[in-house]
Amino acid sequence: MEIFKYRKNLKLHLAKLRTEGRSLGFVPTMGALHEGHISLIRKAKTETGAVICSIFVNPTQFNDKKDLEKYPRPVEMDIAMLEAAGCDVVYIPDTGDIYPDGQEMKASFDSDGLDTRLEGASRPGHFAGVVQVVKTFLDIIEPNRMYLGQKDYQQYVILTKLVEKMKMSVTVVRCDIVREKNGLAMSSRNARLSEPVRWKAGIIYVTLRYAVSLFPLLSFAEIKNMAVDAINSVEGFKVDYFEILDAENLNVIENKNNVREIVIVTAVIVDGVRLLDNVVIG
Ligand code: AMP
Repeated sequence: MEIFKYRKNLKLHLAKLRTEGRSLGFVPTMGALHEGHISLIRKAKTETGAVICSIFVNPTQFNDKKDLEKYPRPVEMDIAMLEAAGCDVVYIPDTGDIYPDGQEMKASFDSDGLDTRLEGASRPGHFAGVVQVVKTFLDIIEPNRMYLGQKDYQQYVILTKLVEKMKMSVTVVRCDIVREKNGLAMSSRNARLSEPVRWKAGIIYVTLRYAVSLFPLLSFAEIKNMAVDAINSVEGFKVDYFEILDAENLNVIENKNNVREIVIVTAVIVDGVRLLDNVVIG
């Protein structure tokens, strides 16, 4: 596995891989890797000739600078996990290599209002930062395929829109959510929960599945109310949002008529930790 700190050297190496006829699969991450991230590497491995993973804690997507400072950076362990998963290239740049001209946003991207709802409502500017950094990575790496977790569903929709609107020649691949034994979606934030609370947090996925099972019986409004009540009834759990949406554009829907795929997205604050989860129904 080759490790690069500078885009100049990385680009030379990727050019060589391309001349060998290898297609490139890109997995962007902020490190502190777990099985969820590694599943993206494995999927990319089966579909492309070489897998490039980036590890970069992007300052421009944190509206809370304390959060940025607190973000775990176990780089040695991340590298060992990537090596074991068969990753070909890791790019671990400094902020200066990603933003040589400063962190100011150059061009804004119109996500048709998607960036101010759901996660965007409580984290202003977050998605602008995500778009800025992923666009920069795509320009540097020019991958054939980019692998994103369904776990961050809104991010997946916004980045798919970015690629479409900018007419970039990369295929975005949505990857399934990897879960802990009790159903809790894996996240680096889970480590901040005590063991009993982490166990109880399995209620989030149980509720999502229960909501799906109620589709034939109740209206979406009734399902939503029941789900919010169920999660809020657990001590220390507070639903920020629980929405039943058109999976393609995140529009709120009242029934499943004429909708190809539905997504139920939720964010729950548990002991000060924000947990995200969703299910997609075809
Ligand atoms: P992050 O390092 O949190 O920015 O995540 C990097 C990528 O891993 C994103 O595309 C996430 O959606 C994805 N990811 C995070 N957690 C999981 C999970 N539990 N299952 C699958 N993918 C995940």
